[in-house]
Amino acid sequence: MKGVSPEKLLARERRETLETLERLREELRSEVEFDGDEYDPDLFEREKTLATIQILERKLTRVEAALTRVQTGQYGFCRDCGQPIAPGRLEVVPEATRCPSCKDKAERGFR
Ligand SMILES: [Zn+2]
Repeated sequence: MKGVSPEKLLARERRETLETLERLREELRSEVEFDGDEYDPDLFEREKTLATIQILERKLTRVEAALTRVQTGQYGFCRDCGQPIAPGRLEVVPEATRCPSCKDKAERGFR
C-alpha cells in the first residue's frame, strides 16, 4: 500500500457503496407503481437493479468487516489461517479478509 492507509481506502469504499445503494433503492421505489397484471416492461430492469443491490449489500458487509479488522489490528491477515494476505491482493480488493486459498474454500462451502 503506497501512501493511502487501508482505513481511508475502506472508508471511501464504504461511502461509495452506500451512496450507490441509496441511489438504486431510490430508483426501485420510483419504479414500483405499475398496473396490476399487465405486462410490465420495467420488470427486467427492476430485477437487475435488485440483483445489483444484493451484490452491493454483500460488498458492504465485507468492507465493514475489513474496517473492523483495521481497528483491531488484524487487517491484512487471513481470518481463517492467519497468514498475511499479499499486499497486491489488498490493493485490488481492499475488503479482502481471507487469503486466496481460504477464500476459495469458503466460497465452495457456501455452494
Ligand atoms: Zn488463509
